[in-house]
Amino acid sequence: MNKDPRKEFEDLFLQSQPSDEEPLFVLFGFDCLGCEDIIWLPVENPSQVEFEGGKPIPNSSLLERPPERWSEVFGCIQCGRIATYAGDLVRPFAIPQSLMPRFRACADVYHVVFACGEKGCRSPVSLHVDISAFHAASTGTGTEHAVAALRSGVFDDQMLPCGHSYQRIPPERYRVTRVTTRMW
Ligand SMILES: [Zn+2]
Ligand SMILES: [Zn+2]
Repeated sequence: MNKDPRKEFEDLFLQSQPSDEEPLFVLFGFDCLGCEDIIWLPVENPSQVEFEGGKPIPNSSLLERPPERWSEVFGCIQCGRIATYAGDLVRPFAIPQSLMPRFRACADVYHVVFACGEKGCRSPVSLHVDISAFHAASTGTGTEHAVAALRSGVFDDQMLPCGHSYQRIPPERYRVTRVTTRMW
């Protein structure tokens, strides 16, 4: 399963011929294991792709992938699937500058920590949710939206890492932090 980041990066530009007019940036994401929607990952300063003779120049920030041990639990608010994602599922996407605001807005990721609601378990659960779709639909802060997403019912009965199914708990028992930097 080990991918060569350099080859992956070059393949990115085989599919679509980059135009000279518009700068391209790279964002990272992976496919939800449930609905196959792309879950976008936050990045502080997206890297612009430089070209030489029509070929993209791979630099270290464009080639950098999560380390082998990287894995994160994500909950998809579209389909509710809670799953653990390994670093080799993360892939780069080339995004034209004009579309960057839209795609960066998609990477609206919150880290939520709470205790499993199963009686006698209380195992800590640490998961990430991208709440961009939630944001668009209602008012309130991101933290409120993250809690609202967890309590919306979309995750009900999903399997948690402790082996119990997810149960909604009172809002004050979710600890929420926004993630704005690259997660590796
Ligand atoms: Zn999904
Ligand atoms: Zn549990």
